Amino acid sequence: MGYEQLSQELKNAYVNVRSLDDYRWDLFEDKIIGVHKKSELPIRIRFASGREEAEKMSENKEGFGIDVIVVPNRRTFYIDNGAFILSVNYLRSLLVDINDHIVWHGFKVIEKDGNLVQEDFYEYLGGLMVSHIKNNMISGQDYLLWQFYKCEHCGKYVDIDSVAKHMEGHGVSLTDKSEEKYEVFELNFIKGKVFNKFGKEVKESEFSSEAKAFLKDMFKDVQPIEEEDF
Ligand SMILES: [Zn+2]
Repeated sequence: MGYEQLSQELKNAYVNVRSLDDYRWDLFEDKIIGVHKKSELPIRIRFASGREEAEKMSENKEGFGIDVIVVPNRRTFYIDNGAFILSVNYLRSLLVDINDHIVWHGFKVIEKDGNLVQEDFYEYLGGLMVSHIKNNMISGQDYLLWQFYKCEHCGKYVDIDSVAKHMEGHGVSLTDKSEEKYEVFELNFIKGKVFNKFGKEVKESEFSSEAKAFLKDMFKDVQPIEEEDF
């Protein structure tokens, strides 16, 4: 099958996403698969004639990954059975949002064919992404996703840039570690609070002194608004 034989709706979708080079794109007769390069997370983009058909399709998950179903309807964007059902003009921004919510959260040095190689870990924060989309929150302005290390010595969360200093305080050198896992939290600049990936607040008392100073600096311009106004 050549490119010319692809359906018009598929080509209309593809033209919107093909310049997003965080993904590699595979085209099939009835779907587009975008694979997020760093994390290998697949995003399946399929097509339906309308909402009803899309909702039927959303019941059949093909496996690991994110399902997106494009419908001809205008101004459509909702989630059904975990699948994103949307108009083609929202496709690109969804793919950008997904990329923004796939975050590096650690590494491990492993032996491979007689060499030592670093394996990286990425996490897709889908729950936070949905809440950011619903609340029209903009990355960098309304929130940031940030890595924190849970210290095995004192149990406190340390922001990634302070880990070396914090560990020194316990008499541990980071250079001896071949593996680190981080938890990704949301720094919410609207509320001036930190939330974990499930949207639960991480209280100030759970952070190390370095992380408290880091958060104070990050939130210095925040004027929290009342909860009910949010
Ligand atoms: Zn500690």
